[in-house]
Amino acid sequence: MLLKDKTVIITGASRGIGRAIAVECARQSGKVIIGHSGSESSKQHVASLIQAIEQAGSRAVDVGADAADPDTGDKLVKAAVEAFGSVDVFVNNAGICPFHAFLNMPREVYYKTVDTNLNGAYFAVQAAANQMKEQGRGGSIIAVSSISALVGGAMQTHYTPTKAGLLSLMQSCAIALGPYGIRCNAVLPGTIETDINKDDLADQAKRDYMIKRTPLGRLGEPDDLAGPVVFLASDMAKYVTGASLLVDGGMFVNLQ
Ligand code: NAP
Repeated sequence: MLLKDKTVIITGASRGIGRAIAVECARQSGKVIIGHSGSESSKQHVASLIQAIEQAGSRAVDVGADAADPDTGDKLVKAAVEAFGSVDVFVNNAGICPFHAFLNMPREVYYKTVDTNLNGAYFAVQAAANQMKEQGRGGSIIAVSSISALVGGAMQTHYTPTKAGLLSLMQSCAIALGPYGIRCNAVLPGTIETDINKDDLADQAKRDYMIKRTPLGRLGEPDDLAGPVVFLASDMAKYVTGASLLVDGGMFVNLQ
């Protein structure tokens, strides 16, 4: 029970990686705040997630609010304190990746991606950190960055800077928040099969190429991120801050 007595906020927890993290946090006795966009489809996903969390023996409440809004972090923190009395772990996971070429990138696509993935995250991390400081017993902040923080992508010129930005934010926050016992780390997923890349991976040639590049011989599943995030969230990682953990089946180190 690695997260006993801890309250965990996870943004973008309705689907994909965030959802798998939420379920594992619940299995480890963490109480969960489920962040999501508030769309009609996300509400359905959230209802089944709350059921899964309760089946795992824990509790959850959800907050539907746009990750791009600088006030969303405050809403998530308020909900956590009202429901469970504290914020001990904050997982910044919500993100979008609308694949698009660089030379004709629409400004609205660029700004929406940066606002959703990075600008909103900045203020959400700030809100969580202030609550943790006030509680006076430290905390753990984890950003779901990407292997894309370290490499480029022709169709991701708006996305990769947000992921590099999150990694950098965790590094700087590790220094800024270390004096309060608040640890800040990043996980860098490789290719994990979720809605975000469903269309991209529907191309069989692209799919085969990604698998061939991965030493472990398969694409990732959302659950592959759950263990690494719970580790960083838990006291098992009590001397780990400013770190980045690739969770990519070995893809980054493979030159092929
Ligand atoms: P996903 O299945 O598409 O899930 C995205 C999540 O983000 C959903 O819960 C979604 O909520 C939420 N979200 C999107 N826009 C939002 C907004 N404006 N406000 C609030 N919530 C919003 O994608 P995923 O693959 O799990 O991605 C999770 C994170 O992992 C992202 O930050 C992504 O960049 C990162 N990542 C993924 C991969 C990969 O290969 N899959 C690789 C590296 C990094 P709704 O259901 O409400 O829309």
